[in-house]
Amino acid sequence: MAWGGLIDRYGSRMNIAGKDRPVTLFEGNTPLVPAPKLAEWIGGDIDLYLKYDGMNPTGSFKDRGMTTAITHARAEGAEIVICASTGNTSAAAAAYASRAGMKCVVLIPDGKIAYGKLAGTLAYGAQVVAIRGSFDDGLRLVQEISAVTPIALVNSVNPARLEGQKTAAWEVCEQLGAIPDWLALPVGNAGNISAYWMGFSECWRSECAQLCKKPRVKRPQLLGTQAAGAAPLVDGHPVDHPETKCTAIRIGRPARGDQALQAIKESNGIITKCSDDEIFAAYREVARREGVFCEPSSAAGLAGFKQQIAAGTGPQPGQTVVAVLTGHGLKDPDSAVAEAVAPVTLDADLDTLRRYLLA
Ligand SMILES: *Cc1c(COP(=O)(O)O)cnc(C)c1O
Repeated sequence: MAWGGLIDRYGSRMNIAGKDRPVTLFEGNTPLVPAPKLAEWIGGDIDLYLKYDGMNPTGSFKDRGMTTAITHARAEGAEIVICASTGNTSAAAAAYASRAGMKCVVLIPDGKIAYGKLAGTLAYGAQVVAIRGSFDDGLRLVQEISAVTPIALVNSVNPARLEGQKTAAWEVCEQLGAIPDWLALPVGNAGNISAYWMGFSECWRSECAQLCKKPRVKRPQLLGTQAAGAAPLVDGHPVDHPETKCTAIRIGRPARGDQALQAIKESNGIITKCSDDEIFAAYREVARREGVFCEPSSAAGLAGFKQQIAAGTGPQPGQTVVAVLTGHGLKDPDSAVAEAVAPVTLDADLDTLRRYLLA
């Protein structure tokens, strides 16, 4: 049967309005890619898989939460949606809003959004406002405006977002045919790690209803990674001026920070921070070794695994581990080109080409 999107597949386990009339771009069902050559680079003799969520319709996992948030908002009568965004949320909101025939307004931090994200958001027809401030300033503003107007807020403080995002945990288990020992992902506003934990903690199919009644079904240990210059959950306090080249996680006041820390604790997991150099190293290696192109922020979970395994505190030899690649590499072409060896230019001539290739 053809894939009908997340509400079609998992709607019976989602707490949202409007499930009979989903707004969908047939998101979800993204590949789980085995990554043995990258596992060698990471070390520790792990069985590594990549959940390639950049393969969603607008190029990031945000589509999972937007099919539910926009479906719910439309069912509740909203005509305009608004969000603050480091880029991917705005692209997803814009796409699903246009599909629903709704208007979409997005606030982005001026100059701090990757080009592919801006391009998508504009193409889908959103009204884009660049603010002189950070993502955190934008989130505060959209929360305030949505409190005093009928405009619906679709950031991940909206519970309908997590109802969609939790499905990624179920897909991982179904694709793997097992529950992984560890799951790693980047942490920005902390909605995604919270949603994964909801997913792993809930039943996702009738066969597991029996299991879920038992006191404790196995769940993975979570490894959340923040960028060193934007690591409020690791440092233990808000960061007023977050700085990192990983723009998707350049967030100093994570809205779901407490929920994320609780999830990490319950999972016997780890929250850590990696330098931009460590994250960019993982970003290059995953593309070169496995042919999987993600955006820089998405490689944070891989960098976290490498760091924790080296320290002896992460996955143990033989364990099954999943890294979530949250966004597609084409979202940030500037970073890709800046990190690569520049192409050579040759005359269009066979001898020249032969000499070059055989040199
Ligand atoms: C939104 C986003 C994140 C961070 O997710 P949170 O839910 O904010 O923690 C990480 N990577 C990419 C590519 C994103 O778009």
